[in-house]
Amino acid sequence: MNLRDEFPFFAQPNAPVFLDSGASTQKTKSVLDALARSNGVEHSSVHRGNYALSRKNTDAFELTRNLVTQFVNAQKDEIVFTAGTTASINLVAYSFVLPNIQDHQNIVITVAEHHANLVIWQRITQLTGCELRFIELDAQGQFDLIQADNLIDEDTFLVSMTHVSNVLGNLQPVKDLIDIAKQNQAYTLIDGAQAVSHVDVDVQFLDVDFYVFSAHKMYGPTGLGVLFGKNELLNSMPPLIYGGAMVASVSRKQTTFAKPPHRFEAGTAPISSVIAFAHAIEFLNEHTLEEIQNHSQQLTDYTFEQLNQIKDIQFLSPKTSMGIVAFNIKDIHHADIAMLLDEQNIALRSGIFCAQVLFDFYELKGALRIGIAPYNTKQDIDLFITALKKSIEMLS
Ligand code: PMP
Repeated sequence: MNLRDEFPFFAQPNAPVFLDSGASTQKTKSVLDALARSNGVEHSSVHRGNYALSRKNTDAFELTRNLVTQFVNAQKDEIVFTAGTTASINLVAYSFVLPNIQDHQNIVITVAEHHANLVIWQRITQLTGCELRFIELDAQGQFDLIQADNLIDEDTFLVSMTHVSNVLGNLQPVKDLIDIAKQNQAYTLIDGAQAVSHVDVDVQFLDVDFYVFSAHKMYGPTGLGVLFGKNELLNSMPPLIYGGAMVASVSRKQTTFAKPPHRFEAGTAPISSVIAFAHAIEFLNEHTLEEIQNHSQQLTDYTFEQLNQIKDIQFLSPKTSMGIVAFNIKDIHHADIAMLLDEQNIALRSGIFCAQVLFDFYELKGALRIGIAPYNTKQDIDLFITALKKSIEMLS
């Protein structure tokens, strides 16, 4: 079966040439059907009801947790559902870092971070007085490990890094950085938002303390994310949100909390999203990351090849990028090109993609970015290239 056929988005008349999967992916038919069923004729609460439908939905909800656990090779009770990557990082920041970090310590991130893995750490430094340090990139757009080795010291509490940058698209040497962090007894967090749909993630192999990602970037529902945390760390963490469904017992005076992961899932969960997310994981399992990777890689290579023929093209993404190509055309504003592309039914992003520090690092004001997914075809790229050439001609 053609992968594209599994995505109803492309069956609609006049569907745009969709090249914005770096921001959010389209959903499979199985995910959309499960969302409709779960929001509709099969709806009930979970973890509360003693009736058959609620028990069935609770099982389906927890089945997704099991699938996610296997998908990243975590252990039982190490997967917490959140509202997204941003929410997962905030949970770690407020429930783990803030209560434990000392004022003289530092947090190390990289210049390639999405604002989701940057702004919160500025807030933590404001609240504590600790320092925020940045690892720079080398000429290939990879973490500069020599500089990292100098920057990370015995006062480093946390090293928080992206696995794949949402602008550059290349796989970062996260394992090497984790090793450096460990030599200094620092904790580690990986922002896997752009990675999980492209690379095999094995949290035990990585030996990372926290790994976070979003369902909507892996063909699943919006408003749902994942926090993987090592058992011993999650067990040590207080809840961030307080209320129902996260307690063991409540009296007038005090409350004891449920064990992780439920301790961090207060209130009614996004039930249908969690249940439907199982189908996105199944899609990834069924087609295998290898098949998906090969497809994306071939299309990314083809895109580089085609773009290379355009005069005055300037790439931000290295050739090793996985499914993301960010670029500029010299002396033409990226937003003008994006506007003309939109008029030709091409959907892509222009701007700074929530990564302003990275654009400052490269001394650029913004760029155009295409994000390639398994449903894209060579024809999509050809249509995009034709439209791009036309836009450049109009603006030159
Ligand atoms: N990190 C990276 C690398 C991202 O690409 C994104 C989404 N653009 C995020 C974090 C934030 O994800 P969410 O908006 O789903 O919380």
